[in-house]
Amino acid sequence: MRIALIAHDKKKRELADFVGEHKDLFAAHELVATGTTGQLIADETGLKVKRYQSGPLGGDQQIGALIANGEIDMLFFLRDPLTPHPHEPDVSALLRLCDVHSIPVATNVATARFVLAGVR
Ligand code: PGA
Repeated sequence: MRIALIAHDKKKRELADFVGEHKDLFAAHELVATGTTGQLIADETGLKVKRYQSGPLGGDQQIGALIANGEIDMLFFLRDPLTPHPHEPDVSALLRLCDVHSIPVATNVATARFVLAGVR
């Protein structure tokens, strides 16, 4: 599967830890991510991650385009619900596309665990 990974700044550590904890599973799939998230995950876990633009610079829209093209199977997007983001419209559009194309999406780590259990 091709799995997309995104985390807002205050959630990046949580996502990197989550991916690291389940490195064996993530290693068996193709990983793509927004710029900063992808860099952190690659640095922390040693996994290969294809990086797109940073979210505020269009990375969420790039991941959305992949979803629209049928090139993403699952999205882990740890959102920070307590901080305003300038690219909130992009975030909404991305989540909307997940629903349009029935792509499993986890927006917090509790859901992420359930989704990953399903993958296992
Ligand atoms: P980033 O983008 O991984 O480049 O920080 C994520 C986002 O804020 O949507």
